[in-house]
Amino acid sequence: MQITIVGGGFGGVKAALHLSKDKKSQITLISDKPDFQYYPALYGTATGYSHLQSWVPLGEIFAGRDNVTIIIDSIAKISKAEQTITGTSGTLYSYHTLILALGSITTYFGIEGLDQYAYGIKSADEIAELKQHLLEEFSRPNAADKNFLIVGAGPTGVELSSALGSYLKHLKKHYNKPEPKINITLIEAAPRVLPRMSEEASRLVTARLKSLGVHVELGKKVESETADSLIVSGKPIKSHTVIWTSGVANNPFFAANGDQFTFAKNGKVLVDNYLRADHNIYIIGDNAATQFSGLAQTALRDGVFVARHILKKSKAKYIAKMPPVVVPVGEKWAVFEYKKLRFAGLIGSLIRRAADFVGYSDILPFGQALGVWHAQTIKEDDSYIAENVHKK
Ligand SMILES: Cc1cc2nc3c(=O)[nH]c(=O)nc-3n(C[C@H](O)[C@H](O)[C@H](O)COP(=O)(O)OP(=O)(O)OC[C@H]3O[C@@H](n4cnc5c(N)ncnc54)[C@H](O)[C@@H]3O)c2cc1C
Repeated sequence: MQITIVGGGFGGVKAALHLSKDKKSQITLISDKPDFQYYPALYGTATGYSHLQSWVPLGEIFAGRDNVTIIIDSIAKISKAEQTITGTSGTLYSYHTLILALGSITTYFGIEGLDQYAYGIKSADEIAELKQHLLEEFSRPNAADKNFLIVGAGPTGVELSSALGSYLKHLKKHYNKPEPKINITLIEAAPRVLPRMSEEASRLVTARLKSLGVHVELGKKVESETADSLIVSGKPIKSHTVIWTSGVANNPFFAANGDQFTFAKNGKVLVDNYLRADHNIYIIGDNAATQFSGLAQTALRDGVFVARHILKKSKAKYIAKMPPVVVPVGEKWAVFEYKKLRFAGLIGSLIRRAADFVGYSDILPFGQALGVWHAQTIKEDDSYIAENVHKK
């Protein structure tokens, strides 16, 4: 059986690993980047810890799996009638069975200036740009920013704002910049942080953020950004460092091929009971309009589900399942929630460490997973990322 997978992220990699166990299957994995990105760790890499925890070469993941071919290309077009997809390289690929797992993109909701001035932490390139900027802020003679603004109090914004303080303190010390006093502010339009978690979890996390010195501004709307200010609910806040963690949208590949798919209101692709958009096209992870799409664990689960369906190992219908959520807030503290179960504090952070190990083991053999997991605790030379990652 010949299976083509587009997207070397959580869903695509997991599906390929599962399918490759069947030696009669030939899998072609096409991705626009040579690495798998472990998004949950990106905030750690952005705040001084090893890059090894955040991206793993696809070649390493599939080493020794002779029935998997990796191609680096960005897929731009699909023709269901001809059963082909086309890459921006100009190459036309025929498919027999296709799995699309292209993930989400950041959206600025059309807010003026963000595209030009805001930083992100969704990729190696974005982290490189942010770190380069922070190093310049602290190393140049009169340049240090006073206000560091993080927009969006979902898990990424919370994780980042709680970890940024100790990293900035380190930069201040390293570059001998006792002044100015630094303010870290987390800005959210909703009335509470982590709006997808319970109110009690929001309350605990808000208190924890405050204890770490993070200012939390709720119910505030970002209106625009200029070269030196963010305009929030009518008021300018002086800053050159705005990090946008809010707003995700479905991969633009789908809208560009809108006549080939049907969509839910949120722009995700409607799928049948087996995650199919057509008899031989599966849509998984962030791209599928399923109840808990948008989470890594959903994408991993989807990958296994479609692999089993393709290999005819299961005829069961897809049932969306709420995965557990665990959000770290500074060192040795995290909030964990699953159904009615909730833990906050050290026990939450131990659960998160365990969850990360499970996450790495989902895609890597035990020894390698252990090495990458250990990298979460290793600090990295500040200039490494900025110097070694090719910027856009
Ligand atoms: C900063 C951040 C932190 C997160 N933290 C958590 C967390 O703690 N817990 C959690 O459950 N979820 C978290 N998420 C969400 C989670 O990472 C996603 O839900 C998950 O990655 C979705 O998996 P996927 O396979 O659908 O897409 P992805 O993992 O994004 O993979 C998509 C792949 O497709 C490739 N691609 C994109 N376009 C093309 C194209 N045109 N052609 C070829 N290849 C293409 C991409 O390079 C990528 O390799 C986080 C997300 C971010 C951004």
